Amino acid sequence: MANRVFNFSPGPATLPLPVLERLAERVREYDDLGMSLIEMSHRSKQFQGILEDTKALLAELLVIPSNYKIFFAQGGASLQFAMLPMNLLSADVGADYLITGSWSKKALKEAKRFGPVRVAATTEEDGMFRRIPTQGELSLDPNAAYVHLTSNNTIFSTQFDEFPDTGGVPIAADMSSDILSKPLDISKFGFIYAGAQKNLGPAGVTVCIISDELLARCSRDVPTMLSYHTFVEKDSLFNTPPVFAIYAVLETLRWVKENGGLEAMRALNEEKGRLLYGIMDEMPAFYRGTADKESRSLMNVAIRLPNEELEKRFIAEAAEAGFVNLKGHRSVGGIRVSMYNALPLEGISGLVNFMRTFARNNG
Ligand code: PMP
Repeated sequence: MANRVFNFSPGPATLPLPVLERLAERVREYDDLGMSLIEMSHRSKQFQGILEDTKALLAELLVIPSNYKIFFAQGGASLQFAMLPMNLLSADVGADYLITGSWSKKALKEAKRFGPVRVAATTEEDGMFRRIPTQGELSLDPNAAYVHLTSNNTIFSTQFDEFPDTGGVPIAADMSSDILSKPLDISKFGFIYAGAQKNLGPAGVTVCIISDELLARCSRDVPTMLSYHTFVEKDSLFNTPPVFAIYAVLETLRWVKENGGLEAMRALNEEKGRLLYGIMDEMPAFYRGTADKESRSLMNVAIRLPNEELEKRFIAEAAEAGFVNLKGHRSVGGIRVSMYNALPLEGISGLVNFMRTFARNNG
């Protein structure tokens, strides 16, 4: 594929070319069986193997301890906004929410239906979220079932660097847009969920990781397909799972491992960040980041140019040069550079060169 562009889409996002090639092959025929992967039973030996391998490799890469369970849900990260509180909250069991952007607000809205929830911190100012709250700003309830946070704010382009000390209350984290981008200390978390379509694979599957301790506190009085007990007890096979999406996650995990695992992903992502934030710091009047420096994300970077006319021109000329999907989210405007694991370093160094020339020609 000679004419592949650099695709800065926030999600579904660019995937590694070797993964796409492998998927194309396996969709045509799987293991000389005379049929493709997407035509076989989810209870077949082959799919069973895929499911086991996917969980094992995820556990290996993220160093997930044995007292955690991994399962695969559908309905996107958005369904977890409701499933998490539905499984854990009641009239007298509440949760704390850290509000750092649109996605955490949506999670909060769903949770309010199921129990007493508190905003333990918010960094909203004039409709914008520019930063991650400091530890000192949190007002945490020691009796909360969990503290929910969004580890990376895809729209406002801020990211937790260190996770807060919650005094032993498990963290429930939406990691949709930064899972696998760096190593993680899983033991701080009771629940982690991530829609796959950024760092993990294609849309259609949500990867969930739950501690045995939090699972034990989940209600049994929840509709079957919305109950975490069902997903764990039936090993994600109560009904037909998204077999293709799960297989694509497995191939993406293999690519991560072949490329050095999460330490290597962190180094790659830090290098991309160094280049992109480097030019922004060099030309702050032309490329103005919307996030505060200490809260900057290494996955998504929202940037405003001096005016909207220039922003439009930037997006059009960048696309012509092979850098596509740079339009910012409507709530922030400007441009947004999404640079997940699979976005190669050359994509960022090329974009940075383009930015330098564009500023020179239009500044
Ligand atoms: N959380 C975050 C941090 C996201 O970036 C997104 C999607 N961009 C969502 C949740 C919603 O995910 P889904 O579309 O899978 O429901």
